[in-house]
Amino acid sequence: MPLYDYVCEACETPYEARHGFDAPAPPCPACGSAKVHRVITRAPSALKGIMALAGSGGNATKEELQSKWAEETPKLRKKLADKLGEDTVNRYAPSLNHSYD
Ligand SMILES: [Zn+2]
Repeated sequence: MPLYDYVCEACETPYEARHGFDAPAPPCPACGSAKVHRVITRAPSALKGIMALAGSGGNATKEELQSKWAEETPKLRKKLADKLGEDTVNRYAPSLNHSYD
């Protein structure tokens, strides 16, 4: 079952929950509120590409990692912003606004 990230709208506690694709969001473990929303804080496709470079015998240079990040991150960020809105991305995935360093 997939693992989802949520943030409680009442107390802003982030938490993870594992459940089926079409199951409802579980309530906040901190305050019990059912008003929660799913967030995507990870950057799977970008990170996978970066890791693949980094994992190639550890031969990826910092420049290669930087250019990979610069190439993948805006694409991922746009996808998330289209889906979740700019505010959500800025708030919950701020690392996507930064360049690789
Ligand atoms: Zn809560």
